[in-house]
This record gives sequence, C-alpha cells and structure tokens, in this order.
Amino acid sequence: MRELRESIIRLAQVPPEGLLFQGLIPARRLTRLADAVVGMGEGVEVDLRLKPNNDAYLLHGNVRGAVELECESCRTPFRCPLAATLNLSIDPNPEQDLYRDPTQKGEVWVIDHSDEQIEAPEGYFDLVEALEDEWLLELPISPRCAEACKGICPVCGTNRNEAECACSPAPRESPFDVLAQLKKDK
Ligand SMILES: [Zn+2]
Ligand SMILES: [Zn+2]
Repeated sequence: MRELRESIIRLAQVPPEGLLFQGLIPARRLTRLADAVVGMGEGVEVDLRLKPNNDAYLLHGNVRGAVELECESCRTPFRCPLAATLNLSIDPNPEQDLYRDPTQKGEVWVIDHSDEQIEAPEGYFDLVEALEDEWLLELPISPRCAEACKGICPVCGTNRNEAECACSPAPRESPFDVLAQLKKDK
C-alpha cells in the first residue's frame, strides 16, 4: 500500500465533495503513539474522507492497524487492534456557538460543543496529529492479553497462562461463605 503523503490540510481548500486520505501512515510518522506502546508493526492504513458539513468538517472512514501492548497481568506483549471506524468533527470556529445555514435561508444551529470535536482555529487540520490524539485516548488504561489472563505466579514467577506451577494458590474466600456469615450476623 502506498504511503499517505499530504497530511496537513488547509480546511478552506476542502472541496464540497470532500478530500480523500488513503494510504499507509508508517510507524515512523506516528512517534507519539509509538512511544506509548510496545510495538507498532509497519503502520496504520487509513481510508478516510474529510467533508465540509455546515460550518464544520467531518472526518469519517476506516482504519486498519494494531498496536502491541504489554499485558499488565502476565507481562506478555499482545496485539491490540485500533478501532476500525472513525468519526470525528473538526471545528474551525471553536469559540462560536451559532452556525450559518449553508443554504443561506437565515437559519442558525446551536452546536453542542460537548461532543467529541477537534478544534482547528488556525484553519489547518493535521490528520496525523488528530489520529494520534484519537488513538492515544483509545489505549486501555489497564491492558490485558485476555479477560481470563491468569497472570504471573507471585511465588515462582511462572506465567500461569503457559504452565501450571506447584505453588499453592492463595486461599480465596468463597462469596457463599461471606453470604452465610452475613446471614448469621443478622
Ligand atoms: Zn496476560
Ligand atoms: Zn508458582
């Protein structure tokens, strides 16, 4: 897949039918994301359209890529796919609450700024920067290789997903015992 060239766009130059961003953003251009993960592969493929929408712009389309994260529980790297679809609005006038009707009929809309929105007060949109912001937000706070990851044995250090070890498991209180105790206390 060819590399995506142009990634900084002057919003005023986006034609009514929109602009396409198609290609590979190589890992070396995603340095902030690369710094936050264990591995990046060759990069992320994008197929996105940036389109004028009233006084703002919409970025919509598909993404194909994954990052490698380290499981918090077993310390093993695992692949974490990035969300496949992307929907963002870009606002060149973030301080403005009322928007013109593009059909010039004099109507105005009130835009809810609480929606996820990228501000572009200088009139420029940087695709790579916006995508990195988005993907950094998407990263899990506590990455886990699997819901049922068994983690590392605190005694011998064995990865319990790969092998059983002879250390006795920590005694665990059964929820039924707790319930029985509660009933008795009443
Ligand atoms: Zn794990
Ligand atoms: Zn053990």
